[in-house]
Amino acid sequence: MDRRNVTGLNGRIHEALLNSHTGFLIDVACDATRYTVVKPYALFDPALLTGAPATCTGCRTILDAAPGAPRHPADIARECADILLADADTRGYPPALDDEGLRLALARIAPGTGHLRPLFERLARGVYDPQNSYRTQPLYALIREHLADTLTERALKIPANTPKVLVRYLRYTGGELQAPVGAGDRLTCDGLASGHWPRGTVTAVENSGILVDFHDGYPPRRYRRHEVPRCFAFKVDRAPYTNTGACRPTRGASSRTP
Ligand SMILES: [Zn+2]
Repeated sequence: MDRRNVTGLNGRIHEALLNSHTGFLIDVACDATRYTVVKPYALFDPALLTGAPATCTGCRTILDAAPGAPRHPADIARECADILLADADTRGYPPALDDEGLRLALARIAPGTGHLRPLFERLARGVYDPQNSYRTQPLYALIREHLADTLTERALKIPANTPKVLVRYLRYTGGELQAPVGAGDRLTCDGLASGHWPRGTVTAVENSGILVDFHDGYPPRRYRRHEVPRCFAFKVDRAPYTNTGACRPTRGASSRTP
């Protein structure tokens, strides 16, 4: 996530939090929403970015860390995102990134978060606004962006000395990259022609190609290097690493291994 200063519609300068891959304006640091900078249904104009210091009093209080000032929302979101990711890693699945998935995860782990419990419970309650059913808790977007950043970093990091094979990786909050394939990655087959999009786990990457296990009872299938971008639509995610550096098998893989 990028933090840059932007000029708002009323001329005040706020600190904005932006998607680092697409430049989408997610929110501003103070309580004024993103609509203090962009009009509804309008695109954010990058010409509004400025190098001048923030003049909005709300943003200034947070940035100067004055006594009694609220913490920076991006810092709170990062802390929540780290806890959510650690929880998802112990379960062996990637974290849910949509609003409802986030809400369920926050509600489930709130009792075990110690001093953060009131915050997690508030986030899990969400916002009730009968006048505007689309209004959501603003921290959700920031938490989602931190999670997407961490998952992208993880997807781009593979074990050392792995032969270079690239495949498409799509960030949840926008942006497309070419990610290297490593053992433990989950890939989705391109099913545009067949309508069938099976997912498999990469078991080995060699100079000649890769081995993919589809957990269907058959041995892993071999794909030659030039076939990979054609056969696989994108990389879903990378299994979390354990402390020993070994890749933890996904739940589906471990339960079906003969
Ligand atoms: Zn502001």
